Amino acid sequence: MSDLRDLYQEVILDHNRRPRNFRHMDDADRVCEGYNPLCGDRLTLFVDLDGDVIRDVAFEGTGCAISRASASLMTDALKGKTLAEADALFDRFHQLVTSSTDAPADTAGLGKLAVFSGVREYPSRVKCATLSWHTLRAALTGGATKVSTE
Ligand code: ZN
Repeated sequence: MSDLRDLYQEVILDHNRRPRNFRHMDDADRVCEGYNPLCGDRLTLFVDLDGDVIRDVAFEGTGCAISRASASLMTDALKGKTLAEADALFDRFHQLVTSSTDAPADTAGLGKLAVFSGVREYPSRVKCATLSWHTLRAALTGGATKVSTE
């Protein structure tokens, strides 16, 4: 049985109400805007790098509970990670939310991000959950300053 109660678990609700790292960063090394036209989620992601380590990361914007909570939990998870670790986490997270619902969700190594396992039951919400991650990847690989899920 899966329903909206599962999808909007307490952790997601909490991070939506009180998003962590929700602020503007004036001296960010990388800035990227993400947009999910399917839902209308918009965010700007700020990354402060120290060599290849993510020293600080913050975001601002407007969007649904899933997109806000995902960005909040992502920023919490990224601080102190190397670029390679962040990239690996992106892959793990993307795998989780797009995996088949036939098998139990593989949440190894994801920590609190595992709360998004319920999203895979709602394909229309996957882009809400991955928007901040796609924006992160664009920010870290340089180049793009805007990214859209479409
Ligand atoms: Zn959304």
